[in-house]
Amino acid sequence: MKKYDVIIIGCGAAGLSAARAALTNKRSVLILDMGERPARKVLVSGGGRCNFTNLAVGVNRYFGKNPDFVRSALSKVKPSDILDWAKSHRLNWVEKSPGQFFCATNSADFVEALISDVNLADIKTNTFVNDIEKKENKFIVKTKKSDYECDSVIVATGGISYPALDVSDFGYMIAKKFGHKIIPTRPALISLKTPAFSPELSGISINVEIKIGKNIISDSLLFTHSGIGGPAAYRASLYEFDNGIYINFLPGLDIYKWIMDSKKIDGKKSLQTILMTKMTRNLAKWFSKDITKNIADLSGKEVLEISKRLSEFYIPGNNLTRLGMQNAEVTFGGISTEFISSKTMESKLCPGLYFVGEVLDIAGDLGGFNLHFAFASGLTAGGYA
Ligand SMILES: Cc1cc2nc3c(=O)[nH]c(=O)nc-3n(C[C@H](O)[C@H](O)[C@H](O)COP(=O)(O)OP(=O)(O)OC[C@H]3O[C@@H](n4cnc5c(N)ncnc54)[C@H](O)[C@@H]3O)c2cc1C
Repeated sequence: MKKYDVIIIGCGAAGLSAARAALTNKRSVLILDMGERPARKVLVSGGGRCNFTNLAVGVNRYFGKNPDFVRSALSKVKPSDILDWAKSHRLNWVEKSPGQFFCATNSADFVEALISDVNLADIKTNTFVNDIEKKENKFIVKTKKSDYECDSVIVATGGISYPALDVSDFGYMIAKKFGHKIIPTRPALISLKTPAFSPELSGISINVEIKIGKNIISDSLLFTHSGIGGPAAYRASLYEFDNGIYINFLPGLDIYKWIMDSKKIDGKKSLQTILMTKMTRNLAKWFSKDITKNIADLSGKEVLEISKRLSEFYIPGNNLTRLGMQNAEVTFGGISTEFISSKTMESKLCPGLYFVGEVLDIAGDLGGFNLHFAFASGLTAGGYA
């Protein structure tokens, strides 16, 4: 049986980062992946341009039972470290919005750089790991063709969302085997289905504020055939919304005052015409569909109702569903962090066994936070393994 110091299961962003750190410590490394090629999620990420980090990285951008778990890894691996790494590989980037970094070329260049760091590791693709056993202080990692022995195992098998990229729940299965709890999974960073809007609005995008409990998301929303998508809806999908969500379609504007003032200056105009100064024609038409009067003839009460509709558009929780795992960018839930050391990513129940990246009960916000955590947790575990 072939022996290694460290075996990493999963050759994604987290697994490759773990391998780089372990190799730096002169460990012998084997990476096993069930897919045909490494880092397929990195390849599709950011629309093929890989949004790889964000200067706003911080505990408040992570979700799970204990988001504080990410603190230690984030303090070791900062966005500037990822940018320095990219620079060292001559990768150019673009800052699409302030602090949000994408590859200037494409994700394939990014993946190539990740792989070039681990050329001292053995990488076996098309290799599904079906079990891990611990015998005394050694692990036996089992695949269909061969078994391998090692001192440390790093499980970097990712989530179960986006199944087109050959995902597996092996990480959850192995965590359970060694006594860890699994937090129920659900799709996140995904569009929301709702009958609240007409399919005719599909394709329209507008900057909104979404309020969910005490949380406010300011981002762009895209109407879809089945509801809402775009960054604002994707980010909303990370929250529990049983009590519904409120959308402000004209954030930063005192809508009541604006319409009341317009009554004096543009009283002969229709509500649709007035709204069209702030939004597309079709959206303005939809918001004013029952109102045929000129705005001069609207009562104060009617203006109040209209302004509430625009600034506090309520969608009850039972009228909102996340689209399935099929297209979700990330899996919410996963291996509970309760018995995992946040300092090293090592299991507190099974020394030598590490869990990193999306397989954990950690989901990051939209904007490069998931890849950043995959890098940070992978580098952390690889440095200790
Ligand atoms: C469409 C899309 C766009 C995204 N865009 C962004 C973005 O721009 N920025 C961002 O930060 N995040 C983005 N994400 C999320 C991000 O890509 C993931 O969170 C991140 O890649 C997870 O990395 P990982 O290494 O933990 O897991 P993965 O990348 O999922 O890697 C896990 C690997 O484990 C392998 N594996 C699983 N089970 C087994 C097994 N039993 N045996 C062997 N191998 C196994 C899989 O084949 C896979 O290669 C996006 C995700 C998607 C789907």
